[in-house]
Amino acid sequence: MHYLDANATEPPRPEATAAMTAAFGVTGNPSSVHAAGRAARRVVEDARERIAGRFGAKAHDVVFTSGGTEADVTAVHAFATGRPVLIGATEHDAIRAAVPPDIAILPVDRHGIADLDHLRRWLSDNARGFVCLMHANNETGAIQPIAEAAALCRSHGALLHVDAVQSAGRIPVDLRALGCHSLALSAHKMGGPAGIGALLLAPEHSAIAPLIHGGGQELGRRGGTHALIAIAGFAAVCGPLMDHTAIEALRDRAERAAVASGAIVCGGGAPRLPNSLSIALPGVSANRQVIALDLDGIAVSAGAACSSGKVQTSHVLTAMGLGPLAGEAIRVSLPWNVTEAAIDAFAASYARMAARMTRPLVHATS
Ligand code: PLP
Repeated sequence: MHYLDANATEPPRPEATAAMTAAFGVTGNPSSVHAAGRAARRVVEDARERIAGRFGAKAHDVVFTSGGTEADVTAVHAFATGRPVLIGATEHDAIRAAVPPDIAILPVDRHGIADLDHLRRWLSDNARGFVCLMHANNETGAIQPIAEAAALCRSHGALLHVDAVQSAGRIPVDLRALGCHSLALSAHKMGGPAGIGALLLAPEHSAIAPLIHGGGQELGRRGGTHALIAIAGFAAVCGPLMDHTAIEALRDRAERAAVASGAIVCGGGAPRLPNSLSIALPGVSANRQVIALDLDGIAVSAGAACSSGKVQTSHVLTAMGLGPLAGEAIRVSLPWNVTEAAIDAFAASYARMAARMTRPLVHATS
């Protein structure tokens, strides 16, 4: 099998597996005061320091969550109440489902990049608002101009939450440098375990109301016993950013091969994550493409089908104005351990599929 669905989840990195195996040997509850508890607490706090250092936050301002979804929902819960809300048109469902129904949408251009003039106008009319804008899109990989958006928000007294679930581990991500007020992370998109993530907070907004009440963990910001083993695995993948030059070259090779077979690249004009490719095959549903490639042992996904296996018309590509192509695009996302053989297999399988499915029908004349 050739796995090209890293934006759904990255294959586990060996350093995560090693750190989690070691953490299984730690017995205490990090909230206990005895020596075993203190040893467990040390694992959690060392992890917090490492994650904070890697992503430009203070350790005190890192709140562990059950993943990217909870980090996003926690930010919305903490900051949306009493403020006018604006979210990017291509946000992940974690954000879309968490905000009230009557909020405003920030449009994107045909490459998926947010319209900052629209943001400026909205901020002028909605003082002290709350804005959600993802760093990189999970379908196309489009990278938003977060630093510019954050500066605009700050100059209008608004708060900016950034979903960095897809960008973390692939491009530089730094809360302080970006200037946003909160940032969502998820370990399994970085080669760590699923079920652990973090919300990073700017120091002036680090005292938030919890989404999950309970035993007062995380300085009262998130109840629940720490997922020590998962936290150790998360920290293990927060070392220096991997060089993605080779991955980008392979992504570009996959793109050229698909285009030669008739694919249209979605969002190719935007700055993109080095591992991500969204390609549409006109007239062929995304679902049929995913199944055809799967039969050849190639794992890709249709749009954002990282949630429940559901396949729908992509709201991301629809927002980009791609019309029917929004139901005809697949996402090819290269994992950290991608091989040339996987790209060659993808290119061959895609070419066969495109030739078969887009061939004009020949009618018998008699
Ligand atoms: N945000 C984005 C952009 C994502 O791609 C995902 C996962 O697909 C999430 C949030 C949710 O993260 P998690 O799976 O850790 O809940």
